[in-house]
Amino acid sequence: MRPPLLNPLFAPVTSLAGVGPKQDKLFRYLLERSETPRLVDLLLHLPTSVIDRRTQPKIRDAAPGTIVTLEVTVDRHRPPPPHNSRAPYLVYAGDDTGNVVLTFFRAKPGYVEKLLPVGEKRYVSGTLQMYDGTPQMVHPDRVVDEAAFAKLSGIDPVYPLTEGLALGSLRRAMAQALQRLPRLPEWISPEVIRRCKFSDIAEALNRLHMPVELTDILPNGPFWSRLAFDELLAGQLALALVRAQLRRPAGDRHAGDGSLRKKIIDALPYSLTTSQQQAAAAIAEDLRQPVRMLRLLQGDVGSGKTVVALLAAAAVAEAGKQAALMAPTEILARQHINTIAPLAARAGMQVAILTGREKGKERRELLARLEAGEIDFLVGTHALIQDDVIFKALALAVVDEQHRFGVRERLTLTSKGNAVDVLVLSATPIPRTLVLTYFGDMDVSELREKPAGRQPIDTRALPASRLDEVVDAVGRALKAGKLVYWICPLVEESEAEGAGHLTDATQRFESLQKRFGDKVGLVHGQMKGTEKDRVMAQFAAHDIGLLVATTVVEVGVDVPAATIMVIENAERFGLAQLHQLRGRIGRGAEASICLLLYREPLNEMSTARLKVIRETTDGFRIAEEDLKLRGEGDVLGIRQSGLPGYRIARPEAHGQLITQARDEALRIMKDNPKLKGERGEALRCLLYLFERDEAVPLMGAG
Ligand code: ADP
Ligand code: MG
Repeated sequence: MRPPLLNPLFAPVTSLAGVGPKQDKLFRYLLERSETPRLVDLLLHLPTSVIDRRTQPKIRDAAPGTIVTLEVTVDRHRPPPPHNSRAPYLVYAGDDTGNVVLTFFRAKPGYVEKLLPVGEKRYVSGTLQMYDGTPQMVHPDRVVDEAAFAKLSGIDPVYPLTEGLALGSLRRAMAQALQRLPRLPEWISPEVIRRCKFSDIAEALNRLHMPVELTDILPNGPFWSRLAFDELLAGQLALALVRAQLRRPAGDRHAGDGSLRKKIIDALPYSLTTSQQQAAAAIAEDLRQPVRMLRLLQGDVGSGKTVVALLAAAAVAEAGKQAALMAPTEILARQHINTIAPLAARAGMQVAILTGREKGKERRELLARLEAGEIDFLVGTHALIQDDVIFKALALAVVDEQHRFGVRERLTLTSKGNAVDVLVLSATPIPRTLVLTYFGDMDVSELREKPAGRQPIDTRALPASRLDEVVDAVGRALKAGKLVYWICPLVEESEAEGAGHLTDATQRFESLQKRFGDKVGLVHGQMKGTEKDRVMAQFAAHDIGLLVATTVVEVGVDVPAATIMVIENAERFGLAQLHQLRGRIGRGAEASICLLLYREPLNEMSTARLKVIRETTDGFRIAEEDLKLRGEGDVLGIRQSGLPGYRIARPEAHGQLITQARDEALRIMKDNPKLKGERGEALRCLLYLFERDEAVPLMGAG
């Protein structure tokens, strides 16, 4: 399927000289791949800075402490004495203005002799130091002869590395990978190339990895920008191609007469906010159109997205079709069904849940009912995309918190029906430019208002030294019958190697249990689903008053009666995460309090974050501040979860290019939607190169 031209780039890095099994591991880690990285992964690992070796002074004029390149003739060698292998190997060299000592520690026998033959001219580059009044260079970074020197620009790229992987090994691997770069066709149109002054891709890669000018590696420079554009174009084109599959026969409309929706709205214990009504109306309109829906429903935590999703599903059910809702976690899926089931029951709509937990006979019966069309709305987790989950007539796929799912998962779900409409729910308020980058050209509905009657949350930050006071206050709150969350952070993996992260929550649970007895419960990510649900249900039913939790309660958990939250080590959380967590309270009619316990001393970043979170509960403002403080991908949690991220493009440097890439993709879709001919072939190469080829098989051969 992949154009054979690209095969050399998809060879494993272990096919390079000097990259063995040990290096393989390091490269996997560095390039964030679960399997052996390919040359393409290596080539897209771009340098972050350069070392300038172009200063070529005479020895007499060389400034100590700076990086210089000296042209020297080798005078003599002084190896360490036979019984003292710790002594350095010294090489005396010089030019017509003075002498320099080149120093090597623990050099392999024969290595230095070969590198610096007596009587020969060599170019040595490194940091010059003064030692006992003599210029000295310890382990020169580069030692080359005249011929090799003529080929060097004097500017060396510096890459992000990982422990155990030396810069030199990475550079050597990179140089080999560049050698194997095939001649790639041009996929960008001549107009855009001219307008943006792009070089071709081979030149871009060469100049980034073997810079000629200091500015060659700047993200907003022509070379990095060219690659960023390629990546963005691949992304936008892939989305456009997927979208093009979304036209459906005019007869296939997915919205009914409104009867079910009316029953649900009548059964609601509250009235919909204006923005909920608008979103529901926009969705109903989309469902009537002959083009498939691709809509993002954005709303802060607690803004009431679930009921909007239910209304969409009801519209579909009215037309005799089925809907599915896929949530990223079991807790969330259960919570959705808990909100949905009573309302659906009042309207006579059949709903069910499918997660990894439904097994055996229960699961078989459920799947049979689904295939027979007896279930109108199926809620679940990843379990929904298993092969044996077959719908009679799936017409709507709702995907909650979609940035945790990949495009592939979304496509798998939508491929379970004909012309399936897609509604994406997101609680992360995303600036418009980022929506475009990460979700493509979607319609957007926003739930900006909070449901009526919500009380503001009083947020305070306290040093951990006041823990005892906080525990006392929690005790009083429990006596008064309040529900309290106590959140402990996950310890970072490097500290705890995965499993260790429970200690914080478990220890806190134990100490609070000593004080408050069986009023205290614990949930964390490594508990069984049923166990988690049991504890959550106890909390919702007031059987326990204090729930110690890790961030499993972060997304979407809904216990409106909970009004107090303590967050321990709040300085370890990101802004978006703090906001999500805090969104678990302030959901009812009672005033809520959030206490942020932090460990001193606070660094600048944590101070800024805690200030923002104290000042506002507006998710959009918090998202903007977050973007300012942390920049790019982190806002979407893409880095943490390793989901459809962009490796090259960065919103702050290439924001302008996003729209240009989108325009180019739309032009291609207009002129050559089947990607035919030479340009079409080239574009297919692009899609495969950046692994955005999901839509290519759907398109058939060129
Ligand atoms: P989220 O957008 O975070 O998914 P939910 O859909 O879970 O929000 O809704 C949060 C809570 O608000 C739920 O308990 C829901 O029943 C309630 N709710 C939703 N819409 C309204 C409304 N218009 N008025 C009052 N409460 C509402
Ligand atoms: Mg929700």
